Amino acid sequence: MIFRQLFDPLSSTYTYLLGDSAGGNAIVVDPVREQAGRDLELIRELDLKLAWIVESHVHADHVTGASALKQATGARTSVARNCGATGFDRLFDDDDHLQFGTEVLRVIATPGHTPGSSCFLWRDRLLTGDTLLIGGCGRTDFQHGDAGALYDSITLRLFTLPDDTLVYPGHDYRGRRVSSIAEERATNPRLAGVSRERFIEIMGNLDLPTPVLMNEAVPANLRGGTH
Ligand code: FE
Repeated sequence: MIFRQLFDPLSSTYTYLLGDSAGGNAIVVDPVREQAGRDLELIRELDLKLAWIVESHVHADHVTGASALKQATGARTSVARNCGATGFDRLFDDDDHLQFGTEVLRVIATPGHTPGSSCFLWRDRLLTGDTLLIGGCGRTDFQHGDAGALYDSITLRLFTLPDDTLVYPGHDYRGRRVSSIAEERATNPRLAGVSRERFIEIMGNLDLPTPVLMNEAVPANLRGGTH
Protein backbone atom coordinates (compact mmCIF):
# COMPACT_ATOMS: atom_id res chain seq x y z
CA MET A 1 0.00 0.00 0.00
CA ILE A 2 1.23 3.44 -0.92
CA PHE A 3 -0.15 6.55 0.75
CA ARG A 4 1.21 10.07 0.45
CA GLN A 5 -0.18 13.30 1.86
CA LEU A 6 1.20 16.25 -0.11
CA PHE A 7 0.84 19.92 0.73
CA ASP A 8 0.44 23.07 -1.36
CA PRO A 9 1.56 25.97 0.85
CA LEU A 10 -0.18 28.68 -1.18
CA SER A 11 -3.71 27.29 -0.76
CA SER A 12 -2.98 25.02 2.25
CA THR A 13 -4.39 22.16 0.19
CA TYR A 14 -3.64 18.50 0.84
CA THR A 15 -3.34 16.29 -2.22
CA TYR A 16 -3.40 12.54 -1.70
CA LEU A 17 -1.69 9.85 -3.71
CA LEU A 18 -2.93 6.30 -3.11
CA GLY A 19 -1.27 3.30 -4.69
CA ASP A 20 -1.75 -0.40 -4.97
CA SER A 21 1.76 -1.70 -4.31
CA ALA A 22 1.11 -5.03 -6.05
CA GLY A 23 0.23 -3.65 -9.47
CA GLY A 24 1.41 -0.06 -9.13
CA ASN A 25 -1.97 1.44 -9.98
CA ALA A 26 -2.75 4.76 -8.33
CA ILE A 27 -5.30 7.46 -7.66
CA VAL A 28 -4.62 11.09 -6.96
CA VAL A 29 -7.18 13.13 -5.03
CA ASP A 30 -7.40 16.92 -5.27
CA PRO A 31 -4.24 17.80 -7.18
CA VAL A 32 -3.21 21.47 -7.41
CA ARG A 33 -2.18 22.92 -10.79
CA GLU A 34 1.00 24.54 -9.48
CA GLN A 35 2.12 21.23 -7.93
CA ALA A 36 1.59 19.03 -11.00
CA GLY A 37 5.35 18.75 -11.59
CA ARG A 38 5.91 17.55 -8.03
CA ASP A 39 3.08 15.01 -8.35
CA LEU A 40 4.37 13.65 -11.65
CA GLU A 41 7.87 13.28 -10.27
CA LEU A 42 6.57 11.31 -7.30
CA ILE A 43 4.43 9.09 -9.53
CA ARG A 44 7.50 8.37 -11.64
CA GLU A 45 9.73 7.78 -8.60
CA LEU A 46 7.28 5.29 -7.12
CA ASP A 47 6.81 3.67 -10.54
CA LEU A 48 3.03 4.11 -10.39
CA LYS A 49 0.49 4.03 -13.18
CA LEU A 50 -2.10 6.72 -12.53
CA ALA A 51 -5.60 5.33 -13.10
CA TRP A 52 -7.79 8.12 -11.74
CA ILE A 53 -7.62 11.81 -10.92
CA VAL A 54 -10.41 12.52 -8.45
CA GLU A 55 -11.86 15.80 -7.18
CA SER A 56 -13.63 16.06 -3.83
CA HIS A 57 -15.58 19.06 -5.21
CA VAL A 58 -15.25 22.15 -7.41
CA HIS A 59 -12.64 24.13 -5.51
CA ALA A 60 -12.78 27.90 -5.04
CA ASP A 61 -9.25 28.42 -3.71
CA HIS A 62 -7.00 26.71 -6.25
CA VAL A 63 -7.11 25.45 -9.82
CA THR A 64 -7.04 21.68 -10.09
CA GLY A 65 -4.00 19.92 -11.50
CA ALA A 66 -6.33 17.40 -13.19
CA SER A 67 -5.76 18.64 -16.70
CA ALA A 68 -1.95 18.63 -16.46
CA LEU A 69 -1.85 15.20 -14.82
CA LYS A 70 -4.26 13.75 -17.37
CA GLN A 71 -2.17 15.08 -20.25
CA ALA A 72 1.02 13.65 -18.82
CA THR A 73 -0.27 10.23 -17.71
CA GLY A 74 -3.46 9.47 -19.65
CA ALA A 75 -5.34 8.92 -16.36
CA ARG A 76 -9.08 9.55 -16.35
CA THR A 77 -10.59 12.46 -14.42
CA SER A 78 -13.65 12.24 -12.20
CA VAL A 79 -15.88 14.36 -10.03
CA ALA A 80 -19.37 14.02 -8.51
CA ARG A 81 -22.27 14.36 -10.92
CA ASN A 82 -23.84 16.91 -8.54
CA CYS A 83 -20.95 19.33 -9.10
CA GLY A 84 -22.41 20.28 -12.49
CA ALA A 85 -18.92 20.23 -14.02
CA THR A 86 -18.03 19.40 -17.61
CA GLY A 87 -14.96 17.92 -19.29
CA PHE A 88 -14.47 15.08 -16.80
CA ASP A 89 -14.23 11.47 -17.97
CA ARG A 90 -16.50 10.12 -15.26
CA LEU A 91 -19.21 11.57 -13.05
CA PHE A 92 -19.72 9.59 -9.87
CA ASP A 93 -22.62 9.25 -7.43
CA ASP A 94 -22.96 8.18 -3.81
CA ASP A 95 -21.47 4.76 -3.07
CA ASP A 96 -19.78 4.47 -6.44
CA HIS A 97 -16.45 2.65 -6.45
CA LEU A 98 -13.28 3.82 -8.18
CA GLN A 99 -11.06 0.84 -8.87
CA PHE A 100 -7.27 1.05 -9.03
CA GLY A 101 -5.64 -2.34 -9.45
CA THR A 102 -6.89 -4.51 -6.61
CA GLU A 103 -7.86 -1.49 -4.51
CA VAL A 104 -11.18 0.35 -4.31
CA LEU A 105 -11.97 3.92 -3.31
CA ARG A 106 -15.57 4.29 -2.15
CA VAL A 107 -17.48 7.53 -2.72
CA ILE A 108 -19.58 8.95 0.11
CA ALA A 109 -21.73 11.83 -1.11
CA THR A 110 -21.55 14.61 1.49
CA PRO A 111 -23.40 17.67 0.16
CA GLY A 112 -23.17 20.88 2.19
CA HIS A 113 -19.93 22.76 1.49
CA THR A 114 -21.05 22.45 -2.15
CA PRO A 115 -23.85 20.28 -3.59
CA GLY A 116 -21.35 17.88 -5.17
CA SER A 117 -18.90 17.60 -2.26
CA SER A 118 -17.76 14.04 -1.69
CA CYS A 119 -15.62 12.12 0.77
CA PHE A 120 -13.63 9.03 -0.15
CA LEU A 121 -13.16 5.94 1.98
CA TRP A 122 -10.11 3.78 1.38
CA ARG A 123 -9.21 1.00 3.82
CA ASP A 124 -9.07 2.59 7.30
CA ARG A 125 -8.89 6.17 6.05
CA LEU A 126 -11.33 8.80 4.96
CA LEU A 127 -10.38 11.69 2.71
CA THR A 128 -12.82 14.38 3.73
CA GLY A 129 -12.18 17.19 1.22
CA ASP A 130 -13.68 20.39 2.64
CA THR A 131 -16.60 18.61 4.29
CA LEU A 132 -14.92 17.79 7.61
CA LEU A 133 -11.72 19.56 8.60
CA ILE A 134 -9.65 18.91 11.71
CA GLY A 135 -11.47 20.90 14.38
CA GLY A 136 -13.66 22.55 11.73
CA CYS A 137 -15.63 22.09 8.53
CA GLY A 138 -15.94 23.69 5.11
CA ARG A 139 -17.76 26.99 4.75
CA THR A 140 -21.28 27.07 3.30
CA ASP A 141 -21.67 30.73 2.35
CA PHE A 142 -21.05 30.45 -1.42
CA GLN A 143 -21.15 27.91 -4.29
CA HIS A 144 -24.69 26.91 -3.22
CA GLY A 145 -23.49 25.81 0.20
CA ASP A 146 -26.09 24.49 2.63
CA ALA A 147 -25.29 24.36 6.35
CA GLY A 148 -28.18 22.01 7.20
CA ALA A 149 -27.07 19.56 4.50
CA LEU A 150 -23.47 19.78 5.75
CA TYR A 151 -24.57 18.97 9.33
CA ASP A 152 -26.52 15.96 8.08
CA SER A 153 -23.63 14.76 5.89
CA ILE A 154 -21.14 14.96 8.75
CA THR A 155 -23.30 13.60 11.56
CA LEU A 156 -25.23 10.94 9.62
CA ARG A 157 -22.64 9.76 7.07
CA LEU A 158 -19.20 10.44 8.54
CA PHE A 159 -19.69 10.25 12.31
CA THR A 160 -21.36 6.84 11.87
CA LEU A 161 -18.12 5.36 10.47
CA PRO A 162 -15.94 3.29 12.83
CA ASP A 163 -14.22 5.30 15.58
CA ASP A 164 -10.73 4.45 14.37
CA THR A 165 -11.29 5.67 10.82
CA LEU A 166 -8.50 8.13 10.09
CA VAL A 167 -9.59 11.58 8.91
CA TYR A 168 -7.44 13.16 6.21
CA PRO A 169 -8.76 16.64 5.36
CA GLY A 170 -8.53 18.64 2.13
CA HIS A 171 -6.98 21.60 3.92
CA ASP A 172 -5.36 22.56 7.14
CA TYR A 173 -4.10 26.01 7.96
CA ARG A 174 -2.22 25.06 11.14
CA GLY A 175 -0.06 22.13 10.07
CA ARG A 176 -2.34 19.39 11.39
CA ARG A 177 -2.24 16.34 9.13
CA VAL A 178 -4.56 13.66 10.44
CA SER A 179 -7.28 13.04 12.99
CA SER A 180 -9.89 10.31 13.55
CA ILE A 181 -13.66 10.01 13.46
CA ALA A 182 -13.81 9.43 17.25
CA GLU A 183 -11.66 12.51 17.87
CA GLU A 184 -13.69 14.78 15.60
CA ARG A 185 -17.02 13.49 16.95
CA ALA A 186 -15.85 14.23 20.51
CA THR A 187 -13.90 17.45 20.09
CA ASN A 188 -14.72 19.30 16.85
CA PRO A 189 -15.94 22.66 18.19
CA ARG A 190 -18.39 23.16 15.31
CA LEU A 191 -20.07 19.81 15.88
CA ALA A 192 -19.45 18.17 19.24
CA GLY A 193 -22.67 18.56 21.23
CA VAL A 194 -23.93 21.16 18.73
CA SER A 195 -27.54 20.94 17.50
CA ARG A 196 -28.43 21.21 13.82
CA GLU A 197 -30.14 24.54 14.49
CA ARG A 198 -27.14 25.97 16.33
CA PHE A 199 -24.77 24.70 13.63
CA ILE A 200 -26.77 26.54 10.94
CA GLU A 201 -26.59 29.68 13.07
CA ILE A 202 -22.80 29.34 13.55
CA MET A 203 -22.23 28.78 9.83
CA GLY A 204 -24.36 31.79 8.96
CA ASN A 205 -22.24 34.09 11.10
CA LEU A 206 -18.67 33.20 10.12
CA ASP A 207 -18.17 36.35 8.06
CA LEU A 208 -15.24 34.95 6.06
CA PRO A 209 -13.43 36.79 3.26
CA THR A 210 -13.94 35.64 -0.35
CA PRO A 211 -11.07 33.39 -1.53
CA VAL A 212 -8.56 35.41 -3.56
CA LEU A 213 -8.55 32.99 -6.49
CA MET A 214 -12.30 32.27 -6.52
CA ASN A 215 -13.12 34.05 -9.79
CA GLU A 216 -10.38 32.19 -11.62
CA ALA A 217 -10.58 28.86 -9.81
CA VAL A 218 -14.32 28.08 -9.93
CA PRO A 219 -14.83 28.50 -13.70
CA ALA A 220 -11.57 26.63 -14.45
CA ASN A 221 -12.47 23.78 -12.11
CA LEU A 222 -15.97 23.51 -13.58
CA ARG A 223 -14.15 22.65 -16.83
CA GLY A 224 -11.85 20.13 -15.17
CA GLY A 225 -8.97 22.58 -14.93
CA THR A 226 -8.78 23.02 -18.69
CA HIS A 227 -8.39 26.46 -20.24
FE1 FE B 1 -13.72 24.03 -1.03
